[in-house]
Amino acid sequence: MDHWIREFYSAGNTIFNEGDFGQIAYLIERGAIRISSYRSGQDQDIALLNEGDMFGEIALIDRRARTATATATEETTLIPISRDLVVSKLKQSDPLLSYILQVVVERWRESMGGIPLKTDAQLAEENDISSLKTFAIDQLKIAQNLSDAIERNEFLLYYQPVVHLHNRQLGGFEALIRWNQPDMGFVSPVGFIGVAENTGLIVPIGRWVLKTALAALAEFQSDMDEHHPGAPRLFMSINVSARQLQEQDEVETLIDIIRASGVDPKRIKLEVTESALIGNPMVAAEALNKLKELDLLIAIDDFGTGYSSLNYLSQFPIDTLKIDQSFVFAMLEHDGSRRITKAIASMAHDLEMNCIAEGIEQEADIPVLQSMGVEYGQGYFFSKPRAQEQVQDYISKRGGGTSTA
Ligand code: C2E
Ligand code: CA
Ligand code: CA
Repeated sequence: MDHWIREFYSAGNTIFNEGDFGQIAYLIERGAIRISSYRSGQDQDIALLNEGDMFGEIALIDRRARTATATATEETTLIPISRDLVVSKLKQSDPLLSYILQVVVERWRESMGGIPLKTDAQLAEENDISSLKTFAIDQLKIAQNLSDAIERNEFLLYYQPVVHLHNRQLGGFEALIRWNQPDMGFVSPVGFIGVAENTGLIVPIGRWVLKTALAALAEFQSDMDEHHPGAPRLFMSINVSARQLQEQDEVETLIDIIRASGVDPKRIKLEVTESALIGNPMVAAEALNKLKELDLLIAIDDFGTGYSSLNYLSQFPIDTLKIDQSFVFAMLEHDGSRRITKAIASMAHDLEMNCIAEGIEQEADIPVLQSMGVEYGQGYFFSKPRAQEQVQDYISKRGGGTSTA
């Protein structure tokens, strides 16, 4: 954990003074700390802390003036824990846990009611805490509403074309979930997939996505056969979360769904992120190898944004790298992004994989990507994700040829 950068103090050094403004807590890795406070005209000891003790922790949840002074009494090594880190961890955590902590902080605030909150920094802090609380409550609401969203038929899939860059012919689609919640309206997957993963609801949702997307692929293929005979066969890319790969039985269930669909597995591409593989690599490898026995395709999504270790690329049965849209967006303006895009493409080819560039928003991106040998493209320039009926409409009118939004 290289973000824990240690601080070193000699005997007599002050870490912070009573009245200082603080947003860092400290863990004593080695050494000793004296905590004291100025009362009735003199410095009084409150505590002597040693290895493994933490101090200054109130700053992590509520930024106020320090109520005591901390001094090293010998050679001491401290591990600072910043409030920003805790807030960001809290945002990723289970919504219920995050909410409980907010309530506890709120109660603590009330119990400390006598202390005035006056400075700008402190007022900004209040907003920060209350926005975190709103966030936690929203997440709870989402978790609550998600639990019966499948039964209530609130999900639907949109499909975004993936295009062969050399002739701009339709190659396939990526299935992207949409949630139409009666009270909240359309909720973006960015807003609820994380909650679904934390609560485990992604497992039944993922089954529904797979089943629905494969049924749609069969429809799209038969429309293609009718309107564009001889065009290459379509594929369907489906997003799979780490959680779905971590349960042994779940992989069997996904295999059953694929078999029951009657779709040729060679036309199915499962998209997983780098972080899904890294979290528990042994289990992920076993799951992917089992799925791979069906002869389907596996893509790494958002490639280049996740873990920097490339070691796993050779350990997993991967067919495709999806170059993250952040590189493609910036490619024409920033040399660095263009170089990264090029490097990813050439690495994919060296490893006998192909690649898809995501986030193509302008025509000028296409020749650049082609010069790098990128096989497929996806993005608003070709088409936004569309509902099934719109896609069928589009295939019957023009789907075999050049496609723009
Ligand atoms: P992703 O898999 O990276 O999907 C690509 C996202 O980029 C989609 O957002 C898509 O609409 C958007 N996009 C595509 N082309 C362009 C473009 O040219 N410009 C811009 N600005 N954006 C573009 P969306 O549909 O909101 O999905 C967001 C994320 O939610 C997905 O990112 C994926 O991580 C997750 N997600 C969506 N559907 C599912 C699902 O069925 N299962 C799981 N596990 N995750 C899903
Ligand atoms: Ca994806
Ligand atoms: Ca992506």
